[in-house]
Amino acid sequence: MRVGTVRGRPAVLSGNRALDIALASDGRFPADMAALFERWDELAEWADSRGLDDAVPFTPQELGAPFLRPSQVFAIGLNYRDHASESGVAAPDAPPVFTKFPTCLTGPYDVVALPSPGVDWEVELVAVIGRRAEHVREQDAWSHVAGLTVGQDLSERSVQLAGPVPQFSLGKSYPGFGPIGPAIVTPDELQNPDDLALSCRVGDDILQQGRTKDMIFSVPELIARLSAVCPLLPGDLVFTGTPHGVGMARTPPRYLTPDTILISSIEGIGEIRNPLTAGAGYPAQQR
Ligand code: ZN
Repeated sequence: MRVGTVRGRPAVLSGNRALDIALASDGRFPADMAALFERWDELAEWADSRGLDDAVPFTPQELGAPFLRPSQVFAIGLNYRDHASESGVAAPDAPPVFTKFPTCLTGPYDVVALPSPGVDWEVELVAVIGRRAEHVREQDAWSHVAGLTVGQDLSERSVQLAGPVPQFSLGKSYPGFGPIGPAIVTPDELQNPDDLALSCRVGDDILQQGRTKDMIFSVPELIARLSAVCPLLPGDLVFTGTPHGVGMARTPPRYLTPDTILISSIEGIGEIRNPLTAGAGYPAQQR
């Protein structure tokens, strides 16, 4: 099952067609994604038995973020060896965890205003929690995941690195710094949810390419480790880290520029396309 938000309403998606869940179910299911997470298995069963024959076409621009109100957004740093290495640090023996404050979340086709010329890209697999997870064992973790989606962990590097210790959470939480989508895809839709190709590019210029099997801490291991401390709640997001190829690690460093489109994609899930513009703080002479 692929579930997204079309014109602000939860819908089951198939290609470029959408079935409005509340309308098509005659109100059996509400037009409220948070409530749907509580009945996810029932929803999948309904969608499967009902079929999508009467789904109607939508345009990509009508797609919003699949979910905008998570209680918690976890993000993992340095979860790929080649990215740790390009960052000049050893591969971690425990996952570095920070948050992206939820006000940074935005839709898969939304415009993102760059606050400065120092904004970097990080394509990431994002796990959406479907069931409360507390002290979950690794082998039980996938059953607590509603689905997977594509995310960008956009990062303003000067804020991230300002001060006596890095400010990961702040530098990664400007408005628009957490585009997600195009849909929440249930793990059973994917041939191998533990091994998905992911990449990001600007135009034809490929910036990052990797595979999620190369994560140091897999989705199940992250859920086990996070839920050993914080209960994970339905709708919570876990940004699982980025492979190598970020702009900060290049010589010279390279960052995102206005009037381009950042395209991020993950095998079997889809792609998100975010046009970039110069925000209010972006120096006029560098536009
Ligand atoms: Zn990241």
